[in-house]
Amino acid sequence: MNELKIGILGIQGDIEENINSTKESITNLNLKGTVISVRHPEEIKNLDGLILPGGESTVIGNLISLNGQIFQTIKNRISNGMPVMGTCAGLIMLSKKVYDKFIGQTKQQLLGVLDIVVERNAFGRQHNSFETNLKIPTLGPVPFKGVFIRAPIITNVQDNVDIMCSFDNKIVAVIQDHIIATSFHPELSLDTRIHELFVKKVIDFKKSYN
Ligand code: GLN
Repeated sequence: MNELKIGILGIQGDIEENINSTKESITNLNLKGTVISVRHPEEIKNLDGLILPGGESTVIGNLISLNGQIFQTIKNRISNGMPVMGTCAGLIMLSKKVYDKFIGQTKQQLLGVLDIVVERNAFGRQHNSFETNLKIPTLGPVPFKGVFIRAPIITNVQDNVDIMCSFDNKIVAVIQDHIIATSFHPELSLDTRIHELFVKKVIDFKKSYN
């Protein structure tokens, strides 16, 4: 198999941290690959997988919609099976519908490929940012340190979406086929297990067309 080529959407947010976690995951899995920050449709067309980092979803959404081509290329590639992972703002970008407790449904640009409803900034002021140990059965018995920063929660999922993790009765991570999404930031926890799960999806996808 050729080297994997994974892109991190390089518009805004914690791009560098995702590059590092993905590179480390590739090494841990004994694979070869390149991980690059991407912001042009041509680059996205050549990827085997894409990560949408945490940051500010309204900013990322506005900036990618300025160039309709990048927006459409990402959407098409995901619809055609390319694995994608979204963390925090990235989860928001992937979702079908987003609302805010105070202002109701937001009018922000969404890719709309993940069949979930999301509430933005759902942990309130006291819990703007926090860390907690999460139980994630898919990853085995060792807890995963969840880093939450003005995090969203998932308030509704369709039947085709698997719940990967709940915390405090709130859904905070899901998988829908080749799409992984987390409310928290795995790229900030020095634990690469979720990025490794994503890289494994990228391998499966690459095998399917090689
Ligand atoms: N609150 C941000 C948003 O709604 C997400 C925060 C984050 O990515 N850490 O876009």
